Amino acid sequence: MTNETKDVRVRFAPSPTGKLHLGGARTAIYNWAFARSCGGAFILRIEDTDPERSTEENTQIILRALKWLGLDWDEGPGVGGAVGPYFQTERGATYEAALESLKATGAAYPCFCSKERLDACRAQAEKAEGGYAGYDGHCRDIPEDEALARIAAGEPHVWRLRTPDDHGPITFHDAVYGDVSFPADVMDDLILVRSDGSPTYNFAVVCDDANMGITHVIRGDDHLSNTPRQILIYEALGFKVPTFAHLPMILGPDGKKLSKRHGATNVEDYRDRGFVADAMVNYLALLGWSLDGETTVIPREVLTSQFSLDRISKKDAVFDEEKLTWLDGVYIREMDAGAWLDEAAPWLAFAHHLGKSAGTGAQIVPSLDKDAQRARLASLLAPWEDVPGEEWQGLLADVADRRGWYEGIYPLIIERQTTFNELPDKLAYLFWGPNVVLDEKSVSKVLRKEGACADESLALCRSILADGSIPWEAEELEQACRDAGEAAGIKPKLLFQPLRVAVCGNQVSPPLFESIQLLPREDILARMDATSALVFGA
Ligand code: GLU
Repeated sequence: MTNETKDVRVRFAPSPTGKLHLGGARTAIYNWAFARSCGGAFILRIEDTDPERSTEENTQIILRALKWLGLDWDEGPGVGGAVGPYFQTERGATYEAALESLKATGAAYPCFCSKERLDACRAQAEKAEGGYAGYDGHCRDIPEDEALARIAAGEPHVWRLRTPDDHGPITFHDAVYGDVSFPADVMDDLILVRSDGSPTYNFAVVCDDANMGITHVIRGDDHLSNTPRQILIYEALGFKVPTFAHLPMILGPDGKKLSKRHGATNVEDYRDRGFVADAMVNYLALLGWSLDGETTVIPREVLTSQFSLDRISKKDAVFDEEKLTWLDGVYIREMDAGAWLDEAAPWLAFAHHLGKSAGTGAQIVPSLDKDAQRARLASLLAPWEDVPGEEWQGLLADVADRRGWYEGIYPLIIERQTTFNELPDKLAYLFWGPNVVLDEKSVSKVLRKEGACADESLALCRSILADGSIPWEAEELEQACRDAGEAAGIKPKLLFQPLRVAVCGNQVSPPLFESIQLLPREDILARMDATSALVFGA
């Protein structure tokens, strides 16, 4: 299909006025995937011309988020390239040169109108029915020598594009929207260069795209209405007009444009909540594009070989965090233990931090209902940022030093995890040492359950686990407990549930004996003793 040529050059051109949001990330993914699928070049250009809203910090955040997503650029910041610089603030000379060439052909003219005059014109036009609300062309025909004299005298002025009077409709074929046409006679003479000498967005973007040899402009459809204006600039400069592809909007679940109201909308929040970059890229790619209308799991290699513009949809896409979460789980379950541990390391170190801070002996804590659990999970945004630096380094070093032990957690959790921020709460019990934090509901439903004789069950299991002749291995320990239970006439469930609560704190922990195997015998026995003492007074 579309992936016609190696000469494809596309760009992602973020303005560093904020963090990288999901819509921007999707635009970047489409440009990147299109370049890769054609063997073309993916260029990153920072549009930092708005001095009030652009910051270096935002630029760094955007670069970091793109790197996290694994969207490597062929030309741009940190990489260089033949048509740089790649920051608009460093490209002033190219805009000046372009303006000079437009002045030379008469396609640009100076406009001396004051803001007050322009406001008054607009107000007037808005009152008149069907009135033309654009610029009225007041300075179009000022004789050249008069204009030059006023400029020389220091009179403030902008430079405008002279839209040709006889221009027919501006038409272009958008790779997503198809044939698009705008009447040229409603285009006013747009400003190219402001009175302070800075280029407007439309002017800078055209100069850059042309000078950088961009063949396809793939961007959000909020720029669709800018396109006819940009085409007029291309034509005036004599540049080839690229192919445009405008991407559909991303909506929140309520059908409104995705925004902060819907929760996290910036990419790094998802990283900090423990989402996997591969799942993010896959999910965002599906917001407006499809491989075949049905495949959901689309690994990077497939995306970068199969992406095509003709499968981008015109229909607005709906961001569905549940689906993203599901997809995240799919990617996690495909990881081997080593890859999993690389991603899990900070979350496990934080579980360690929680476990260590759990207090001594046994204690009973209130249970969290579903909503509280969800809220708690949402609050875990890179939670380690609050852990003192030195302690944090120690916790990370522990993961690095004992990778083998930490990889032992992988089989316990891999089937029951969808995002990484679930790990601290689910796994803190592995780091309690001899202490135990008992979930209130589990205590009443299991340990204090009438007629269940949980104290006897616990005592029986304790005698098995204390028996040094049984290898400290999950299967052997489980079998020995099972046999002892059978001999004593205790059903496995009634035998194992109290043990689970006394060791892991609740009834829904990861597999019990696999957990026990990971921990030292003396810690397990200490937890059981502390639980018995607290709950049964034994
Ligand atoms: N800098 C513009 C933005 O962040 C993108 C311009 C373009 O893609 O043409 O919206």
